[in-house]
Amino acid sequence: MFLLSAIFRYPKKTTQEETSISRGSKDAFFLVVDNKTQVYSIASMDIIETVREMQEYANRLRSDGNVIGLVPTMGYLHEGHLSLVRRAKKETDVVLVSIFVNPVQFGPGEDLSTYPRDLESDEHLLKKEEVDILFNPSTIQMYPEPGLTNIYVHRISTTLCGNIRSGHFDGVALVVAKLLNITKPHKAFFGAKDFQQQVVIRRMARDLNFDVEIITCPIVRDEDGLALSSRNMYLSKDERRRALVLNESLEEAEHLIKKGEHRADTICDRMRVMIEKRSPDRIDYISAVNPETLEPVRTIEGPVLFAVAVRFGKARLIDNRLVEFNADED
Ligand code: AMP
Repeated sequence: MFLLSAIFRYPKKTTQEETSISRGSKDAFFLVVDNKTQVYSIASMDIIETVREMQEYANRLRSDGNVIGLVPTMGYLHEGHLSLVRRAKKETDVVLVSIFVNPVQFGPGEDLSTYPRDLESDEHLLKKEEVDILFNPSTIQMYPEPGLTNIYVHRISTTLCGNIRSGHFDGVALVVAKLLNITKPHKAFFGAKDFQQQVVIRRMARDLNFDVEIITCPIVRDEDGLALSSRNMYLSKDERRRALVLNESLEEAEHLIKKGEHRADTICDRMRVMIEKRSPDRIDYISAVNPETLEPVRTIEGPVLFAVAVRFGKARLIDNRLVEFNADED
């Protein structure tokens, strides 16, 4: 069944034989363009739950010449996720979104059991964006037996969030490697919101020769500047208001650089003062790092990433800002 709907969705590859198959479908309609019949699907999205089916589907799509775009997510979708979907729609023929809350990237005492989920709403949003395939495997599908293989990306996995969330990026690297092998995309889309994550994945893909292009998309924020995150739903009204200081402190960092301040410590101290004024429950880090190596920067002489991780109530929030400083133009 899913192979038939794959045929409906991709007019570029439609043959005469496939056209006649699709005529009976209530999910498809025809348009005649330049004397060629093209078939379009309406409001159908294939939902695949098994690894094997997904791999077969991906093989078929690839052999038909489609460019596959993957947007990996943990669900509870918002405009940040959808911005990746829209970018993928622009750049690929078939957009595949995965929803999988990956247990191995959560540490003991973290929010695995309470992580927000709403598959019905997610499906609705993805259909509205005309996503072609939702891959929604169970934990048993993804981890049928205790694995013996780890992926550990040295150095960049153990700074910033990796320093606080021990093993987190090993879990992320493992699941992304598995998802790439299962969905076989040409391009995979990640958000700059999780900046360290995309650095780790980029490096893993390079070191292990994954034949995929990693694309990083900008952070999507609410109108008041709070970076969108599934975990924002943990925030009370008051915590959410106080959490706006994350973006404000990052803006201040850029402002200070523009005013000529090049000492990273001085800028981070100023950010800390701002954040502490809003009584956070915990500050995990406030850092200025090289955006490629994630190593600490002391004197700002080139592009610098300011990154923060702060807890308000039950929500541990991360945010960052890349400042494209060029010493020659200063
Ligand atoms: P998650 O479901 O939190 O694992 O996120 C899935 C993908 O969406 C990751 O690549 C995130 O970086 C990206 N993402 C999450 N929030 C945002 C946001 N506010 N702006 C851009 N991308 C985001």
